[in-house]
Amino acid sequence: MHNKLKFTILKQRGNARVGEIELNGVKIQTPIFMPVWTKATIKWIILDLLRDPHYIWTHIEPIKLILANTFHLYLRPWNELIKAAWWLHKFENWNDWLILTDSGGFQVFSLWLGKKDDKWFSHNVRMKLTEEWVKFSSPHDGSKHFFTPEKVVDIQSDFGSDIMMVLDVCSPWDADKKHTARQMQMTHRWAKRAFEHFGPKYDETRGVLFPIVQWGTYLDLRQESLEFLSQYARDGIAIGGVSVWEERSKIEEVIEYTAPKLPNDKPRYLMWVWTPADFRFAIEQWIDMFDCVSATRLGRHGIIFSDEWNIKITNAKYASDFSPLTSNCDCYACRYLTKAYFHHLLREKEVLWWALLWLHNIVYLERILEDWKRKFLAEW
Ligand SMILES: [Zn+2]
Repeated sequence: MHNKLKFTILKQRGNARVGEIELNGVKIQTPIFMPVWTKATIKWIILDLLRDPHYIWTHIEPIKLILANTFHLYLRPWNELIKAAWWLHKFENWNDWLILTDSGGFQVFSLWLGKKDDKWFSHNVRMKLTEEWVKFSSPHDGSKHFFTPEKVVDIQSDFGSDIMMVLDVCSPWDADKKHTARQMQMTHRWAKRAFEHFGPKYDETRGVLFPIVQWGTYLDLRQESLEFLSQYARDGIAIGGVSVWEERSKIEEVIEYTAPKLPNDKPRYLMWVWTPADFRFAIEQWIDMFDCVSATRLGRHGIIFSDEWNIKITNAKYASDFSPLTSNCDCYACRYLTKAYFHHLLREKEVLWWALLWLHNIVYLERILEDWKRKFLAEW
């Protein structure tokens, strides 16, 4: 059995490693952080800034793998349109480089899950879950849609996605155990369906498909899930359902418990972790791939990552602060512009701040990994 994704471990020590993913002619050193290009764009950041980043920053390697959201792109502009545009790569000018797409499941479930009297429930008729499918309404126009494990593979194939994710049923992190176990069993059946559907198409599809180990903070369920799903880790495997709303110590417990038990010779992708501190922790726990919307989500609210602590630039004390945005970063914003300038941009709601702050936050997370990698490779 051949693999489209080749993973080589370049150096391993303790619970950490530097590796190399080779897929569709592109080589990427791990651990990596994938910026989230939700709807095939982020404000005015053209992708060439990631591909050839030296205009914006100086010490970061080009970013070669980004993430896009299936839920959003399926609804608009539609997977078949993107297929006709010669995949997402051509559509957004990311030719020759790599894209990972999520399954869309998280958005379907998180949009419609509510909490009442401390109990989670699907409170909205706009989302209905059966063994066969999940039905939901478009937030744009109310039109009805279905996702099945098979359909979600086909949608991601239409995007030309390089790394695709299976559709899973997302449980809220504090759902009771019985509920969680039921959803786990269903997700396992869905994973089986997805891989049975994908298997015969493996060679004619551009992408590879990762299963996702879920199941909240119940470690015995995580164990059952990782045992079952590891059989599908032909090219890689993900850990999901972490960093949803649970406490930090729980996040670490789940990562520490789950990550070392996944197949050692495949890349391990930790989905959706939130903070620079989580990154630093998870690199030392066998994790090879990260994505996170925090760089852009927090940037939107004027939160800037820094070594000291996150700076809330809208704070009045920065109005006349002419120091660099942060002291330890060489991105465009930190090299040439001041806190006072950004404070001004935010007050005036000038769009420039979004792009520059987001670039800074993306660079900041990339740099954590690059600094770590450099040090790790230099040590014995
Ligand atoms: Zn910066």
